[in-house]
Amino acid sequence: MVDAIAAAQALSEIGYLLRQQEKERFRAKAFSMASWSIALQRPDLAALQRSEALTSIEGVGEGIARVLSDLIKNGESRYLNRLREQMEQPARNDESDLDFAEYRGDIHSHTDWSDGRATMLEMAEGARAMGYTYVGITDHSPRITVVHGLNAERLVAQSQQMAEVQRQVDGLTLLQGIEVDILEDGALDLPDAVLEILDVVIASPHVKLRQEPAAMTERMMRAVANRHVDVIGHPTGRRPGSREGATYDFETVFKEAAKQGVALEIDCDPARMDLSPEMARLACELGCDFVVDADAHAPTEFAYVPMALWMARRAGIPKERIRNFWPEWN
Ligand SMILES: [Zn+2]
Ligand SMILES: [Zn+2]
Repeated sequence: MVDAIAAAQALSEIGYLLRQQEKERFRAKAFSMASWSIALQRPDLAALQRSEALTSIEGVGEGIARVLSDLIKNGESRYLNRLREQMEQPARNDESDLDFAEYRGDIHSHTDWSDGRATMLEMAEGARAMGYTYVGITDHSPRITVVHGLNAERLVAQSQQMAEVQRQVDGLTLLQGIEVDILEDGALDLPDAVLEILDVVIASPHVKLRQEPAAMTERMMRAVANRHVDVIGHPTGRRPGSREGATYDFETVFKEAAKQGVALEIDCDPARMDLSPEMARLACELGCDFVVDADAHAPTEFAYVPMALWMARRAGIPKERIRNFWPEWN
């Protein structure tokens, strides 16, 4: 039985694989958009199939409807299977069993305090609509000046607003965090005294991703060693099909992350998909924990998680190693 979320994941994987072929860029986007629309609306696919109305779903044209139809009828997509083969994706018999219904909360999101496109209240309502019990509000740190990153002063102001927003939403806990930039030398873009008081600290590399691998390794090791860091955000900074991510000694850094209890992110934004399933598999074998999140910049982007949960599933990561499935954050 293929439900809307399983279908969204199949289309998302197709979009991801097509994105890596230069000439398929446009089709890749179409599949990602259709996946997103299905993850958001959760239509009754079997009913639409029966009435031959799959194209009534926003973003689903004739071609994608055929793929969906095959998926609904046969429980798997021959097109996706062919693509996997063509792209030399390993045939896996050890996929993990991940049910989005058990996913508790998203830890990485942005608001209009930095580069998000919605207010904190709108984002909180979006997270609640997803059925989450918590949401991490993790805007950018000061170094990202183009997006008006948050310094200590603005974080205090934000926490006051958060208390107000918290009063307006039931059943959802707001966590105040930061997506702090990992500077070129591995120092973080905010002092320890600030990081210490936050509920969630995601340290992410955003600039100078093309550093020499040795320097990049040192940079990442230093970030992982900071005791306030909970998560390394989009650990390579790659953009599938357009920008190669940072190269460093992944094994050494992942081992250290496992040792320090720092989780690695699977960022589900279709433009990022970072860590990739292959890299996540390596990190899993080295003992790392994960967070799977949307890095949402608008409420509708929370749906990136149900779309892209296939990445963790294909990487074989068991539920216990993904912190979003834990009863509570931390
Ligand atoms: Zn980021
Ligand atoms: Zn982010």
